[in-house]
Amino acid sequence: MAATYEIVIVGGGNLGLWTAYHLARRGFGRIAVCERYWAGFGATSRSAGMIRAQGGSETAVKLGHWSLELYQRLGQELGLGSGFFETGYYILASTEEEEKAFRELLELRRRCGVENEWVDPDEGKRRFPMVDWDRFRGAVYTPHDGYVHPPIVARNITYAVHREEAIDLFEECTVERIEPAGSGYRVHTTRGVLETGRVLNAAGPRGARDLGAMLDVQVPVSAARHQIITFAEVDQQPPGRFPLSFALSEGIYVRPEEQGALLGMSNPEERADRSGRYQIAYDWEYHERARPVWEAIWPSLAGKPISRAWAASIDYTPDHLPIIDEPRDGFFVLAAGGHGMMWGPALGMVMAELIDEGTVAGLPDEEIRLARFSGERKSRDSIALPFPEE
Ligand SMILES: Cc1cc2nc3c(=O)[nH]c(=O)nc-3n(C[C@H](O)[C@H](O)[C@H](O)COP(=O)(O)OP(=O)(O)OC[C@H]3O[C@@H](n4cnc5c(N)ncnc54)[C@H](O)[C@@H]3O)c2cc1C
Repeated sequence: MAATYEIVIVGGGNLGLWTAYHLARRGFGRIAVCERYWAGFGATSRSAGMIRAQGGSETAVKLGHWSLELYQRLGQELGLGSGFFETGYYILASTEEEEKAFRELLELRRRCGVENEWVDPDEGKRRFPMVDWDRFRGAVYTPHDGYVHPPIVARNITYAVHREEAIDLFEECTVERIEPAGSGYRVHTTRGVLETGRVLNAAGPRGARDLGAMLDVQVPVSAARHQIITFAEVDQQPPGRFPLSFALSEGIYVRPEEQGALLGMSNPEERADRSGRYQIAYDWEYHERARPVWEAIWPSLAGKPISRAWAASIDYTPDHLPIIDEPRDGFFVLAAGGHGMMWGPALGMVMAELIDEGTVAGLPDEEIRLARFSGERKSRDSIALPFPEE
């Protein structure tokens, strides 16, 4: 006989695991999490872990703000390090339009409880000399943003899920087919059949679209290559954990990594990848093209030996905002629009609210529901990587 669950969550990444955790805390009933490989295998453990509440829309700001707290609270609850380091974060404006847009966002963020300020180049030079401020009109800054160490995020939420009696975490368990059955669903996996009242599609950049297609639901989650390098040693100024910085127009960001630095970049010419393959081939040709740009913005990185380089598939949505919805009875979709490290804990929290109570009280519908993609689009998160246009 098939095992029976209140809900089957497909995908053991940051989103699926945090949703399972929040549902268990609500006493929702029996929960299965099916993960094709291992918990955290996908984008989650390959990410850069940049965490900010300085988003470009109400939803982005709130999800970032709530997630910061949730990461820290989980660390305390487990009696382990949270993996989060508070460093502060500068988002650098290159153009007049960017400066205007950034300044307009200051008030929205303050209304959402996020401390942030505009910093002129002269002040920037004094506080954070690693950046060549002469190239910028200034930056928006939050003192409470920072970064997480992705392996610790994956460890903590996997451990938290694993110790909940209500949750069965099935690794090496691919969901191959989902069919409606009575008032619920029958989920066919490589480890057997599960009967359930509800299914959550949290299958990330390499699965969300296919999972939706199993039930004729279009899920506009795409994947593109994104790449990271680390430098073993750099002259860190200020010493130790220097603040994060993101040159938005260039799609390049830098954070501390032990005694060195980590740099992430997206090639704006990168196209959506529909192959279903993991995009793990590092693009050295683009690396060489982008190198003069980052060496000019962060001169202390110039000529420094690279200690690691990797590429991976990052998720994105057409407006860079999340999907939190129930497009058919009992079938839920959760996607992070490429911001699943900075939003994951809060996305899990609001998805659990939607599953359990039928509503998401604190976020505007037009920034989270699938219907926004078929009508006139009102919002987008303006603080995002240069993802391919749909
Ligand atoms: C290089 C890189 C850097 C990034 N940097 C940042 C950053 O600095 N800050 C930030 O906020 N975000 C960042 N991101 C994005 C972030 O990592 C993702 O948004 C987030 O991890 C998405 O989480 P997820 O749970 O939706 O997806 P995933 O972590 O990909 O999890 C989905 C899981 O579903 C599983 N799955 C898929 N199909 C099936 C199936 N049929 N059956 C069973 N299991 C299935 C997959 O194996 C996978 O483990 C980065 C991403 C990359 C690639």
